[in-house]
Amino acid sequence: MLRTTIAGSLPKPSWLADPDYQLFAPWVVPRERLWEAQQDAIRLALAEQAAAGFDVVTDGEQARRHYIWDFLDGLTGTDTHRTVKKRTRGDRYAVPQDVARIVGELSRPRPIMVDILRFVKQHTTRPVKVALPGPMTIIDTTADEYYRDDEKTQAMRWAALVNAEARDLAAAGADIVQIDEPCFNVYLDKFEEWGVEALEAAIEGVSCTTSVHICYSYGIPLVLEWKQRNTEWGQYGVTLPRLARSGIHQVSVEFAASRMDPAVLASAGDKDIVLGVIDVGTEAVESPEIVADRIRKALTYVPPERLYLSTDCGMVPRSRAAAYGKLRALAAGARIVRDEVLQQRSPA
Ligand code: ZN
Repeated sequence: MLRTTIAGSLPKPSWLADPDYQLFAPWVVPRERLWEAQQDAIRLALAEQAAAGFDVVTDGEQARRHYIWDFLDGLTGTDTHRTVKKRTRGDRYAVPQDVARIVGELSRPRPIMVDILRFVKQHTTRPVKVALPGPMTIIDTTADEYYRDDEKTQAMRWAALVNAEARDLAAAGADIVQIDEPCFNVYLDKFEEWGVEALEAAIEGVSCTTSVHICYSYGIPLVLEWKQRNTEWGQYGVTLPRLARSGIHQVSVEFAASRMDPAVLASAGDKDIVLGVIDVGTEAVESPEIVADRIRKALTYVPPERLYLSTDCGMVPRSRAAAYGKLRALAAGARIVRDEVLQQRSPA
């Protein structure tokens, strides 16, 4: 019960990627030595998660420049190098973002993340989670210069590509495949119209546990400013009841730094809740007591067997010291509440 995990990413060592641009991680290692360096960074990420006692681990996304681009790089028809500016996320942040372009026929000639997963499996005995970008978030974060068809058609095309990769990851030993869909918190109309259908298509026939991560984006200044201004936090009240009727096993939500009402968690039916109890927008490391308090708030609505504990989102923009401190705080907070639950359950 109260199993611990992270949303996905950890900061990269400065000998691997320039820490000043962590979301887009320009590699500082020559190409012919890159995979060796990435493997060493993955070893460190796994060691930090193991030292903190995490139950489910990831590769810390140490071999990804960006959470979407590396999946796109494995496909034909994409260009992640000559980007264009696009207003994304419903123009919530009022600043156009650099996005990859779709420039030709999309296909997946071979598995993209499977070699990385195999390396991870060789270096841990713990359950492993791999994150893939979801169809709605890919569409919002790319510029389509080739198909120019309607978004639902695009979404189902992306879902098929994500699904093929997810099936291969599960077959190669992934314990959890997580679909990242922060855009489910942005476009509730599209969520209803085709978002869930595309998500279902992305996980269809995937033989491991499936999860959908729905956050309010990275803890970067642009997003933090928006959070300060934002007054509407009811998005999970729309998404969770609908996802309760879907085939997804887990729903990963941002709790620490959003202002969601934990009562909404009860509307997720029998889904596992992966609760963000670490604010990824600050360098300050939470005390275990603060983490424990966040966990207790959710326990009113979700039994501990169905409650996973996580970071709100990826920690790639944080310093390594803060990120590793937050891992330990998360694990320590979980231990406090686990002990309380056991105490309550033991006969007097
Ligand atoms: Zn996230």
